[in-house]
Amino acid sequence: MAEIPHYDVVIVGSGPAGTAAALRLQQLQLRVALVDQVAEDQFKIGESLPGAAIRLLRTLGIQGLDTLLHPEEYQVCTANASAWGREQWTYKDALLNPEGGGWHLLRHRFDQTLRQLAQERGVAYYNAKVGAIHTSTITNVKYTINFKRSTSTLPQSLSCNWLIDATGRASAILRQFGVKRTSYSDQMAVIAWVNTPLEDKDQTTRIKSVAEGWWYSAQLPTHKRVIAFHGQAERIARMVKQPDFFFSTMNNTDLLPYIVSKNDLITDSDLSTTYANVTRPTQVVGEAWLAVGDAALSFDPLSSQGIFFALYSGIRGAEVIAKCLQNPIQRSIYLQQYTQKVDSVFRANERSRKHYYSGINYH
Ligand SMILES: Cc1cc2nc3c(=O)[nH]c(=O)nc-3n(C[C@H](O)[C@H](O)[C@H](O)COP(=O)(O)OP(=O)(O)OC[C@H]3O[C@@H](n4cnc5c(N)ncnc54)[C@H](O)[C@@H]3O)c2cc1C
Repeated sequence: MAEIPHYDVVIVGSGPAGTAAALRLQQLQLRVALVDQVAEDQFKIGESLPGAAIRLLRTLGIQGLDTLLHPEEYQVCTANASAWGREQWTYKDALLNPEGGGWHLLRHRFDQTLRQLAQERGVAYYNAKVGAIHTSTITNVKYTINFKRSTSTLPQSLSCNWLIDATGRASAILRQFGVKRTSYSDQMAVIAWVNTPLEDKDQTTRIKSVAEGWWYSAQLPTHKRVIAFHGQAERIARMVKQPDFFFSTMNNTDLLPYIVSKNDLITDSDLSTTYANVTRPTQVVGEAWLAVGDAALSFDPLSSQGIFFALYSGIRGAEVIAKCLQNPIQRSIYLQQYTQKVDSVFRANERSRKHYYSGINYH
């Protein structure tokens, strides 16, 4: 029987959290594998990267976005434009933010180039979905991880001493370990990617609240725009079934200064939906595992905190595991510190979420 490849750490999920963890573990000279199966060319929601994220990328040896992306794959966000709880628009210029206004980027490309960088730096990448995970009976091996469908180019399984759940809101590994998630809101989102007219030069992030929820839009490079509505499931279901209703409702707000219709949807795209609620598991660490990114805490998109926290918790989670391996006697202290950190981010975020939603009727 072929030998099972063994790693110090296996990370399941290669969004920004999983890849940041992989890059940091690799810097700390641990043997690490990333496992995911990604539709590489598919547009992904979550395109606003805050300016502060550059500090985290630098920790990973990435000096600027230009080392990851082509110039036509990202652009500067010049301001936050919002009509929140009132009709008038207010503009918060990026110049007022000491860390800058951040960027709007092609999110699938951002994730993809981070993943490629990890591979270039020596992280093993397995293009697979993870299925069953077993606690090992072999000495010095904690888990064996089986792939859902193995091919001739893939081994049947991997083994490791530590496991990271970076599977996003799915928190696929935590669920296998019986860890439940608590939801703090019931918001969903419906998303459209559209082509924009050449005269649309707006580089702001636009947010507008309405009685039933709130709208968001940001222009992406190469004359594309993401438009999203956030609200309750019933309305989201109606919008996704009736794109005309989505666009006419949007056109009736003054989110954009021109009319958009379903004919403007980018080629091969439909409206899509996703959960957009605040959720977190009852536990973010275990005996030899921890959760990072959305698996550990998923935010309301209003905060635009998701990628920042994914990178931050990926880096921090990697450092915690390295410390546990170096000094196993202190393991429970390190894991507790990580739990406390995630908890404090959650509490700060909930305070600001409640503050923002108290200003409008919805929620
Ligand atoms: C509507 C909406 C808008 C948002 N907008 C923004 C924004 O503008 N800015 C921002 O910062 N954040 C935004 N976010 C949040 C942000 O996108 C997430 O916080 C971020 O993607 C989390 O990264 P992650 O790596 O934890 O998870 P993800 O990016 O979700 O990656 C998880 C990965 O795990 C993989 N996976 C899942 N199950 C398995 C399995 N069994 N085996 C192998 N792999 C698996 C998936 O394929 C995926 O690649 C938004 C979120 C929503 C819902």
